Amino acid sequence: MKYFPLFTHLDAAEVLVAGGGEAALQKVRLLLKTTARITVMAPSLNAALRALAESSALTHVPRWPGPADLDRQSLVYAATGDRALEESLFAAARARGIPINVVDAPELSTFLTPAIVDRDPIVVAIGTEGTAPVLAREIKSRLESWLPANFGALGQRARLLRRRVAARIKDPAARRQLWERLFKGAFRRAVLRGASAEAERAFARELAAAASPRIGRVALIGCGPGDPDLLTLQAVQRLQEADVLIVDRLVNPQILEYARRDARRIFVGKSPRGPATSQAEINRLLVAEAAAGHVVARLKGGDALIFGRAAEELAALEAAHIAVEVVPGITAAHACAARFRLPLTLRERVRQFSLVTGSSADGLPDLDWRALAAAEAAFAVYMGIGSAPLLREQLLAAGARADTPVVIVQNGTKPQERAVATRLRDLTQAIDEAAISGPAVIFVGLDWAAAGLARPPEVELFQRRPGRQPERPGDCISVSTEAIL
Ligand code: SAH
Repeated sequence: MKYFPLFTHLDAAEVLVAGGGEAALQKVRLLLKTTARITVMAPSLNAALRALAESSALTHVPRWPGPADLDRQSLVYAATGDRALEESLFAAARARGIPINVVDAPELSTFLTPAIVDRDPIVVAIGTEGTAPVLAREIKSRLESWLPANFGALGQRARLLRRRVAARIKDPAARRQLWERLFKGAFRRAVLRGASAEAERAFARELAAAASPRIGRVALIGCGPGDPDLLTLQAVQRLQEADVLIVDRLVNPQILEYARRDARRIFVGKSPRGPATSQAEINRLLVAEAAAGHVVARLKGGDALIFGRAAEELAALEAAHIAVEVVPGITAAHACAARFRLPLTLRERVRQFSLVTGSSADGLPDLDWRALAAAEAAFAVYMGIGSAPLLREQLLAAGARADTPVVIVQNGTKPQERAVATRLRDLTQAIDEAAISGPAVIFVGLDWAAAGLARPPEVELFQRRPGRQPERPGDCISVSTEAIL
């Protein structure tokens, strides 16, 4: 960025425009939006400028300016067609520390005029540092059609109300929340409709509510498997409202970029190995923060209601009579399957798909192995990498076919994402050889071939070498053919 965007105060300031032609007129028209005192210096003016001078919108001095004419000016525009004159004006402005813009001469300009979308007092300025004015116009016309013509009424109204709000609501966070509510709800609609009395009533209601003691609340937000693009719009809204973020380990740090910068962040990682915050402590934190009147966002990986211990958090909040909302997220199995185009159900073939956990307080959980081993069973195992050897053993012992297809997706949707396809009999070795340490989803009973699809080339394939003893280390090879799946 070579030019830093700023808004300059020009109320009753002196501004000089050197030039009497079309380019000078354009600058004068922009300046007339302000209350600046405009002097136009040029031996002669075109008709439009002359009319403005006659109506006293500007002062005309019928000669070219010299350096001394720049004294007391806040801003100078030059469009004289005389490069030598413009160079001398540039030098004079620089010497006096006055910003100058010479039309069509960036090398003689210390500021540029942006393209403007004017919804006074709300103004959008678009700059391209002179590189692509056409793009600036494109953005301008999009914004013009997007922002209602009377959008500025919201700013005008806010200007009138700002003092009343500041007098009544002392806490800056509460003030911000009030403005957020005002600009979203009935107040906004009434202002934009021009219904002044109704806007005042809506404002008074919101102000009274904000002045009464604050009531905290909690949103349990499913933040998806990693890629921030998979956040729902509702998740982004709730993140932006939150004063406090209570964040799980599996939540991608990039997602925190969507929260307000001043929101307090509390990390409560429950890592299988590293340091952990107990669930009881997390429950206590949620209740304490909301009871203190904060808007709390509880960020969880994937979907909050799937293997996320949401029930315990909901129960703790319910017991403390704290309002709570659940925002759905994309669960790991859905995202991982989508990344590799793996259908999770198949017409007439796979009519049931389950999510199971591979981990419980004491190792592998007690699952319905007979059902999971059935030929048509299809399921995704969460938290199953550590217990994969036992999982494989139990399924085979319950009668699962050794060549049941298995797909393992690690770090789905993140930059380190990996997918490995293998067979149930080779599950343990595939995990060892691929050095998969999680987080990963293991899909069992699903593959592309059964769906009439080709395995995507980015999926690695693990297949035991023929003729070797089963359980020896190094028995797996990685090949990249479409052969077995
Ligand atoms: N609530 C989460 C699951 C939490 S349990 C959800 O709905 O996805 C944690 C397990 O989720 C991990 O052990 C792993 O099995 C799975 N998981 C989470 N993120 C993942 C990712 N990006 N890729 C693969 N598996 C993931």
